[in-house]
Amino acid sequence: MTKIKKIEVDKNKCIGCGTCAALAPEVFELDKNNKSTVKNTSNAKLETIKLAADSCPTKAIKIETE
Ligand code: SF4
Repeated sequence: MTKIKKIEVDKNKCIGCGTCAALAPEVFELDKNNKSTVKNTSNAKLETIKLAADSCPTKAIKIETE
C-alpha cells in the first residue's frame, strides 16, 4: 500500500476556498488567515487526499508518497 510521506499546502497559492477542508476535514483546516493548513496526516487516506489535491482550484496541495 502506498503510504503518504508528506502533505504540503503552498500558502501563496491557496485562495481559502475551503474545498480541501470540506473533502478531508480530518486533514485540512483553514487557519485564521483563511489559508489551508495540514492539521493531521495520520488519518489521511491517500484517495481522499488525492481528491482534495485534484479539487484544489489553484493546485496548492502537494502530496509526497513513499
Ligand atoms: S482547496 Fe486549495 S485553494 Fe482551496 S482552501 Fe484548500 S488549498 Fe486552499
